[in-house]
Amino acid sequence: MKILLLYPPRENYIFGITPHVHIDADAGFYPPIGMLYIAAVLRKDNKHDVSVLDAYTQQLSHADVAAHIKNLRPDIVGIYCSTYYLPDALLAARSVKQAGPSIITVVGGPHVTLYPRETIRQPDVDYVMAGESENSFAELADCLEQKRGADIEAITNVLTKNSPADKIISAPPVQNLDALPLPARDLLDYRLYRSILTRRNPMTTVITSRGCPYSCNFCSNIESGKKVRYRSAGNVVDELEQVHSSFGISDFLFFDELFTSNKKRVHEICDEILRRKLRIRWHCRSRADVLDRELVRHMRAAGCRLIQFGIETGSERLQKLINKNLDLSGVKETVATVYDEGIYTYADFIFGFPTETADETERTLRFAQSLKLDYVAFGMFHPIPGSTFYDQGLKEGLFNDFWREYVVDQKNVITDHSWTRRDRAKFHGFCSSAYKRFYLRPSYMLKKLLRTDSPAQLLWQAKSALKVFSNLFLGKFE
Ligand code: SF4
Repeated sequence: MKILLLYPPRENYIFGITPHVHIDADAGFYPPIGMLYIAAVLRKDNKHDVSVLDAYTQQLSHADVAAHIKNLRPDIVGIYCSTYYLPDALLAARSVKQAGPSIITVVGGPHVTLYPRETIRQPDVDYVMAGESENSFAELADCLEQKRGADIEAITNVLTKNSPADKIISAPPVQNLDALPLPARDLLDYRLYRSILTRRNPMTTVITSRGCPYSCNFCSNIESGKKVRYRSAGNVVDELEQVHSSFGISDFLFFDELFTSNKKRVHEICDEILRRKLRIRWHCRSRADVLDRELVRHMRAAGCRLIQFGIETGSERLQKLINKNLDLSGVKETVATVYDEGIYTYADFIFGFPTETADETERTLRFAQSLKLDYVAFGMFHPIPGSTFYDQGLKEGLFNDFWREYVVDQKNVITDHSWTRRDRAKFHGFCSSAYKRFYLRPSYMLKKLLRTDSPAQLLWQAKSALKVFSNLFLGKFE
């Protein structure tokens, strides 16, 4: 069958509650790696004729997408959908049906995992697919091609318009990640993908494991789950080597929820990169309480250039409340170790957790300033479905099920409901001043100049920073 996988245009994206300063294109574009995995499985053994359209990165409009579909005339269009993307995903489904009413639409992604029944009720959606979909998309395509419609209900993570109301949707995660083919990067123009943080571009993303064993109360890790599945070191480095030799890409972002959850495997990956003498650079995400100096040195030797930490708050009380449970003096030590070993450090912080006091908000910013950090991102707490805080807020009657209300009718506004809604303006103001108070310190700017390994990248970052700060100073953010 002729199958198009579509990452929709971003014309009606919901930016949530965190101040948005409109520099998305300046920050770069990441390849839709999940879709490229599905494409790779679908085209195995030349079973299907598969193409991928990343309308967001290519900056296409819905009209452009409609024209593309009319021209291509696919049998099936698979559409990515997160809740933030819902209006654009539904518009894309409408474009498909207008281009050809018989073209089948399949919608998947985190939104569908959370709200499969609400999504299948949308008029232009024929099938929805919850959870990891590499294997089930291939099964569905085979059923459709072989006109085995009755077998579709047996695919446990798929809903059709006729699925029984009591169908139990279960999306078993892919257990053996090594058995998946490598993502079909050749289906997209790899030169479009770049990041403001990588030393050279184009870059690409790589997923070496799926899942996170922790249970932070604000996090909705609904797609990958708590049980971590790991690719073997050899399999990971095969991908790095293949991408490096086929596309000349040397810069990789490891997109795992938590790359360092298994230290032994991180050592093995580093050993394998060094053994194959791969001259690459990579970034990863880690908790601040799972690294030691020996591991950091090994990572550095194998090309690790940046580690991103989710630190969230500088209050010991809130660390416990959010179930992150980081020891703040340990965080300070780890971040300093990484920084001193020559790896860039990046941390995420969130303001406005439930019950957070003004003093704790200020303490979080001061804690960020006290760390040896090259980059920070500040956000505002917003309860998201699938998280413990969301369930707790619902149970305590703090808010309605506002995400579901939005999903059912997009006239309901998401950002009007949250713990922080009374203080939204205050936290917006604090976020913007936090950026200024962190990045505009002369000591920070001097260190940044001295630590840069790429003047071109520094120039790009300076230009984007100028844009961010002029937006912040002029109050041009939402
Ligand atoms: S915030 Fe990070 S460490 Fe915590 S559960 Fe989510 S992915 Fe895991």
